[in-house]
Amino acid sequence: MAIQRTFSILKPDATERNITGAINALIEKAGLRIVAQKRIHMTRGQAETFYAVHKERPFFGELVDFMTSGPVVVQVLEGDNAIAKYRDVMGATDPSKAADGTIRKLHAKSIGENSVHGSDAPETAAIEIAQFFAGNEIVG
Ligand code: GDP
Repeated sequence: MAIQRTFSILKPDATERNITGAINALIEKAGLRIVAQKRIHMTRGQAETFYAVHKERPFFGELVDFMTSGPVVVQVLEGDNAIAKYRDVMGATDPSKAADGTIRKLHAKSIGENSVHGSDAPETAAIEIAQFFAGNEIVG
């Protein structure tokens, strides 16, 4: 299997509850390596750009409000099949539908405040990583 990189966000509900270390432990236990990580407070512009694909959705305003409501931890994760593997570790968007043992089943508060983001495809991973990290900030 190919080594891939994916983009991850530990969302404001995770930083607010001080569970970023607990989530990182699940990421590492799954065999993914955190090769870049920083804590930032997203601006509205950054959040609107990041979630532009959802701008016609009814929850877009709520999503941007949430993602700018507190600090987040942005990360690059690396490993075999990292994009699909991290989606598995995250669990379904709605925590009530997420499988046992997943980050969202264990930690998410709701379909909106669901603790983590992970890229859904190689093209989006590349775009998302480039939005938040310079090449020399990623150390594999
Ligand atoms: P993901 O890839 O599993 O994160 O899910 P999506 O790409 O479908 O949605 C992006 C993010 O928008 C989700 O992770 C949620 O934070 C948020 N979101 C999705 N659906 C809803 C919803 O019905 N209500 C609210 N408030 N937020 C939602």
